[in-house]
Amino acid sequence: MPDLPPTVWIALAAVLGLLVGSFLNVVILRLPARMAASWRREARDVLELEADIEPLPPGIVREPSHCPQCKHPLSAADNIPLFSWLLLRGRCRYCKARISIQYPLVELLGGVLSAVVVWKFGPTWVALAGLLLTWVLIAAAGIDFRTQLLPDQLTLPLLWLGLLLSLPPMFVGAQAAIIGAAIGYVSLWSVYWAFKLLTGKEGMGHGDFKLLAALGAWMGPVALLPTILLSSLIGALVGGSLIALRKHQREIPMPFGPFIAAAGWVWFIAGHNLLQGYMHFTGLR
Ligand SMILES: [Zn+2]
Repeated sequence: MPDLPPTVWIALAAVLGLLVGSFLNVVILRLPARMAASWRREARDVLELEADIEPLPPGIVREPSHCPQCKHPLSAADNIPLFSWLLLRGRCRYCKARISIQYPLVELLGGVLSAVVVWKFGPTWVALAGLLLTWVLIAAAGIDFRTQLLPDQLTLPLLWLGLLLSLPPMFVGAQAAIIGAAIGYVSLWSVYWAFKLLTGKEGMGHGDFKLLAALGAWMGPVALLPTILLSSLIGALVGGSLIALRKHQREIPMPFGPFIAAAGWVWFIAGHNLLQGYMHFTGLR
């Protein structure tokens, strides 16, 4: 790596994160539509119905961005992460339709979290792996938040990558990664079935098990309990405030994935410090 001061690396990571955030917006919007269309095709195939003639929704990489309202293609100047939205005050340059705040938020999140990863790990391969984890978690959380789906296309590669990174090993050894993945999956799976047998309702989706399995592969079994506790805490705070602000109805299920993703990321970055703080606070050390 070239010898640059740490602040320059952190700034570079922030810019890269903004650009990737812009791409993650496209993934968050287009991946679920692609998934739904391919499920419909498979279902028609299984039911031996005539093949569907409806075209597939736009691909993630091939089709250029356009305004969702007036379909006007976006120029490079309309596509600068965060700044275009701010300069245009959240409206389309051509038809003045409001542009969702999701776009600048995801870009900002990409920029800030990427900067934190490089601040924590420096310009290293570990940071690069951390950036990949961060970006996949943002996309997964965004999709779950919008659609209550956690795509296998995101959770499973993250699980495989976590297992592979345990070989050098990068974060935890292979034994911890394998056990972490298994316990991560089975623990939420058991909660799911206990909840379903007791209440007859489905409290979470299978994607949640796979996401926690992936985090277990990256961080080992020791990180699982704090991740779940932290996710419940974040979930209770966010859910409680949304209900208090009457932005969310109690009966509508809230996706759990974004909270697992957020808690897993916080533990990935600061787990060691949080644990030390806790031990210090409770007098254990
Ligand atoms: Zn427009």
